Amino acid sequence: MSMPGHAPPVPAPPTLLEPDLLAADPAGLADVGRLVTELTREAAGALRRRSGPLPAVTPQELARSVDRQLPDGPLPRTGGGRAALHALARACAAGTVDLADPRAAAHLQPPSLTVAAAADVLASVFNASVDTWDSGPYAVELERRVIRALAGLTGFGAGSDGVLTPGGTASNLQALLIARDTVLRDRRDVRGHGLTRLPVRPVVLCSELAHFSVSRACAVLGLGEHAVRPVPADSAYRMTPEALDLALRSLAADELPLAVVATAGTTDFGSVDPLPGIAAVTREHGVRLHVDAAYGGGALFSDRMRPLLAGIEAADTVTLDLHKTAWQPAAASVLLVRDRAGLEATTGLRVAYLNPDDDGEAGYDGLLGHSLQTTRRADVLKVAATFLALGQEGIGSMLEACHDLARHAATAVRSHTRLELVTEPALTTVVFRYLPATTTDPEACDRINGALRRRLLSEGTALIGRTESGGAVRLKLTLLNPQARTTDIDELLAAVVAAGRAVESGTPQPTVPGPAEPADRKETPHE
Ligand SMILES: *Cc1c(COP(=O)(O)O)cnc(C)c1O
Repeated sequence: MSMPGHAPPVPAPPTLLEPDLLAADPAGLADVGRLVTELTREAAGALRRRSGPLPAVTPQELARSVDRQLPDGPLPRTGGGRAALHALARACAAGTVDLADPRAAAHLQPPSLTVAAAADVLASVFNASVDTWDSGPYAVELERRVIRALAGLTGFGAGSDGVLTPGGTASNLQALLIARDTVLRDRRDVRGHGLTRLPVRPVVLCSELAHFSVSRACAVLGLGEHAVRPVPADSAYRMTPEALDLALRSLAADELPLAVVATAGTTDFGSVDPLPGIAAVTREHGVRLHVDAAYGGGALFSDRMRPLLAGIEAADTVTLDLHKTAWQPAAASVLLVRDRAGLEATTGLRVAYLNPDDDGEAGYDGLLGHSLQTTRRADVLKVAATFLALGQEGIGSMLEACHDLARHAATAVRSHTRLELVTEPALTTVVFRYLPATTTDPEACDRINGALRRRLLSEGTALIGRTESGGAVRLKLTLLNPQARTTDIDELLAAVVAAGRAVESGTPQPTVPGPAEPADRKETPHE
């Protein structure tokens, strides 16, 4: 690199990447371009040799092959240069989950968009941070605008604000932090003095199907997991206003509700709590409302799906996961707040070396006071790139396509004698189970459904989800590939039925190269 006023470059040792070490100058950018071209070419080659969404290996076989690939470990004494990067790209593409494969349908983990992945390179290259104005002026301005646009989409008015976070888990934590400190404000300065000797017992009410991050947040916030009061869901997996009202009325005299958390898109079923009725109940009881729309928030982009979220504008805070239903590479979650005072009271702060008052008054303010983080990546770049390139309609139509696939899957499940639908899909999730031909014993049904999913996993041919409801093991398709076709869904369901039959008849697995998994292997917990 040679820039005016800089000392002449030190000659690079041979193993450093040529021609330039640093990404953010013209020569470095050109080299980033070349490297990305090479890495994506190597990855594409390896991807073409695959036959399914997961590598057809057991966890033990994968661990052994990573050891072989890294004979000197991941931190060799002397670097291997470009060749090492090429090998890494090939190994990554061979061993990763391939989310663009229409048979990948397990988790709320979408295939990321080309435009977002490419724009994300800008975040890495320039390495801006949005905590202070002078560590990333453009990203700071862009995040303010993206937050304003999303708040507008949600129906929040002029006093609203928000922040990008590393995930729905973090967004929910910050929402409950704001609720805790705002509601307890008149009794105690919790931010200053913590929760010691509180004269009340704070509680948080949510559906029994709310995401576990709600109870985790309560633990982190010093409220304890037992502060969560789960409200029973109805037969459509929703928290009804009546059940919520009853739960609020049943609180003990010294229990103080900090917030009600409504879920707009439960992780397991995609069911949406009826927000207008819930908002009416929280208004009547004078309780704050947080809407966890980590999954369902994508409906805001679609004219057709938006009515599902009617009432969201009554929330005090909202979680949206753009790395779920806006097809962003993680991380891209958003916390929106109706009243920005809540952010200022909980995370606002002045630090002499980051954002002194006089700089702030002169307009040199970053987003430090919005976030629980300090250094914070410009994740907004990929988000803005996606919004600008595809528009609201482009993103909305992807969710509509996935919803259509889910409805197709539900119809196909309902009409198959060996499959049983659990509930109509509200978003893009289809929960069902395989009905064995040879038994109706509940335990045997559970065992066969668990085993057929593992069979598909270890064959690498289909990746479907698993959960439990009504005391039984269920299978789950989380459909987030907008380019999948209905024939892909039909093939996925056919694979499920074939695997179920094979498990029932004890047919050995034909295509597994290594040792089969032990039959009693524990299931991974649901996400
Ligand atoms: C996925 C999910 C979360 C957690 O979000 P992460 O981004 O994985 O941290 C929270 N709530 C709901 C309803 C979710 O589906």
